[in-house]
Amino acid sequence: MKETEQDFLLNPKILENYSFLQEIGVLKYIDQLNQEIKKYQGLILSAGEIFNCTTADEIMDAAVWQISDLYLPSFVAFIWKPLQNRDDVTIKGYQNYKFVDLHLNIENIVPLESFFLKNQEPVIYDMLREALEKDPGAKPILESFDRLIPELVIPILGPKGLYGIILVGTKILTGEYTASELLFLRQLMSFVSQAIQNHIHYEYSVRDVKTGLFNYGFFSTRFNEEVSRVKRSGHTSSLIVIDVDKFKNFNDDYGHLAGDKVLEYIARTIKQSVRTDDVPSRFGGEEFTILLPDTDKDIAWNVAERLRTSISSMMVPWDPLLPQVTISLGITTFNRENMADSDEIIHRADEALYQSKGNGRNRTTVWQDKLLPRKEKAAADL
Ligand code: GH3
Ligand code: MG
Ligand code: MG
Repeated sequence: MKETEQDFLLNPKILENYSFLQEIGVLKYIDQLNQEIKKYQGLILSAGEIFNCTTADEIMDAAVWQISDLYLPSFVAFIWKPLQNRDDVTIKGYQNYKFVDLHLNIENIVPLESFFLKNQEPVIYDMLREALEKDPGAKPILESFDRLIPELVIPILGPKGLYGIILVGTKILTGEYTASELLFLRQLMSFVSQAIQNHIHYEYSVRDVKTGLFNYGFFSTRFNEEVSRVKRSGHTSSLIVIDVDKFKNFNDDYGHLAGDKVLEYIARTIKQSVRTDDVPSRFGGEEFTILLPDTDKDIAWNVAERLRTSISSMMVPWDPLLPQVTISLGITTFNRENMADSDEIIHRADEALYQSKGNGRNRTTVWQDKLLPRKEKAAADL
């Protein structure tokens, strides 16, 4: 690029007419175009960086670094509704490159949805404000935003509607955004919004919608990978299977909606009881699994018992007040010495679970050879 430009400028005909070209602004125009090109090269690099991020947090951090380097906005806020957090919106605010609590008091973004379904692109905040001024649902949201004096609002849209929004504040140092800066910001943030959208779609594909835990498909893939890994290495890993006790009766007495709420709270407690490398999943219905890589029997037992106790004292907000629920658990540990195929390992954990059921429920059993024979499991079900 540079060489071509040099060649062009050193062309004798150009040199002959240099003052004329300067006078009519051609050279200045070339300079401007070069700056534009640099800007778009930067945009492509930034987009590459943003699309390479694997978590929503990384995407947001990368975006904020890019924007802050360019314009230093007074703040940037990401407000979105991730699947694994069904009731709440997640808010991540930044000021001066750092994560801060912006004290945005927003429970949902539903009142902004119809506006952004009509205007599917970033808008100047005042436009949104004007359009929704008379909407009582949007009022508390806009009042909360007003305090921060946002300049731009960027929607994160996908097939399921409005997933979230990104708010960008005014520039700290150098006055208002110029039209070309706003255009650039919009383009950059559209990439960010798409990267977050991709991330949300990925989450939809691996999570169970009701509980936010991993779904059966994801569990199954990870479990098979883990079994192969353990076969190749000298590691020991564990599998815990969980079944809610007498849940049919619970549904019959309190209704399916109350039952769903309980499942959601059980899932929440499971998530809080495991490490980041563990794979807590909804196996189906009221059954859950936790795959614990590099975890021996004693540690798996501690995890299971901690979880069982937490759930037996768990309070689920509901009207009328709900009784405590309990869970039964089965554990199996697998390593090179006792290796079996994936189905057999699940059977072993299941056998241990049925032993827990047979022995009175609300307990944990570790699989060992010659546990309750499988034909007796039907009896334990009663
Ligand atoms: P046990 O202690 O032997 O496990 O008894 P149980 O009643 O839990 O066992 P059973 O397999 O007979 O019943 C499971 C119940 O779980 C039946 C079904 O209504 C309930 N269930 C499964 N999935 C859901 C769900 O997504 N929501 C609700 N509310 N209930 C569910
Ligand atoms: Mg069951
Ligand atoms: Mg059950």
